Amino acid sequence: MTTQIVYSKEFLKHDNASHPENAQRLVVMMNEIKKAPFYKELEFVEPDLLSEEMLHGIHSDEMIQQIKEMSSYGESWVDMDTYVCKSDYETARLAAGGVLQVGNDVLEGKADNAFSLVRPPGHHATGNRSMGFCLFNNAAIAANEISKKGKRVLIFDLDVHHGNGTQDIFYGRKDVLYQSFHLSPHYPGTGDIKEIGVGVGKGYTINAPLSHGNGEVAVSKLLDEIFMPITRKFKPDIILVSSGFDSHHLDLLGGLKLSSNFFGEMISRLQDVQPKIVCTLEGGYNLDWIGKCLLSQIGQMMYHPVKFDDPVREDTDVEKIIEKIRNEMEKYWKI
Ligand SMILES: [Zn+2]
Repeated sequence: MTTQIVYSKEFLKHDNASHPENAQRLVVMMNEIKKAPFYKELEFVEPDLLSEEMLHGIHSDEMIQQIKEMSSYGESWVDMDTYVCKSDYETARLAAGGVLQVGNDVLEGKADNAFSLVRPPGHHATGNRSMGFCLFNNAAIAANEISKKGKRVLIFDLDVHHGNGTQDIFYGRKDVLYQSFHLSPHYPGTGDIKEIGVGVGKGYTINAPLSHGNGEVAVSKLLDEIFMPITRKFKPDIILVSSGFDSHHLDLLGGLKLSSNFFGEMISRLQDVQPKIVCTLEGGYNLDWIGKCLLSQIGQMMYHPVKFDDPVREDTDVEKIIEKIRNEMEKYWKI
């Protein structure tokens, strides 16, 4: 078994200490990994810089030039939430390049699975707009390149926020399936049940907007009744997981009630369908817990589960939402 971790100290250059998405997030996660019983078995790899050509495969030239220019003169803001630091044009391309690199390794069998410990995050970045702490869409760029090889990709988004950027990029496609559960109403306001794709992409975007207080019992039901039955029929060649640890019950920007242990449980459910899994870091802002959520996922990837004392109370009422999603999806999938 080989589990790769793609990481670079370069990712610490994207930093603003007064912003929740700061470099300290990676520092605490690396510290937690070093304490793990399986630390020495992990294979650490340095990321490759993503080519500008591949960046253009997903993002508009105008958006790319904007980030390139801002990163040449240092800290500036794309919008109220999203900062750009000096040399971020390289840092963000390293993040995307890292996800693609381990994606290829897992696809080719050089590794069994991988976690991309990369920043800045990606899932809010649309084809033509950086937003929501995200400059370029790391998972989408990797999925797009992998799909060019004729492979089918599931992007499973477990961040507390809806991945509007990823949805937007693949909305009209059926070779990349996008599944997301998220808190609603919440930033960025997208991810309604009725957002199911367009044209041939209809049925290949699946959204489960959950309520404040919903937690792992609700998500378990969703996995059992909607997400995994559809994934089995879709038969992905690889699964990319947008791992946002802000769906943990103590997150500062969250509202869902997942325990740290449940992050590994979700990997286990996905492994039952397709063990070729590449996680990529998205959100997660409670510095006391994000490292534990990460260890839960990596431990499960290595079939060496780690458990934490992390009790949580939740609202388990999710049946109406599941019924509404089923009504939308049964036109496209026999579930
Ligand atoms: Zn998030």
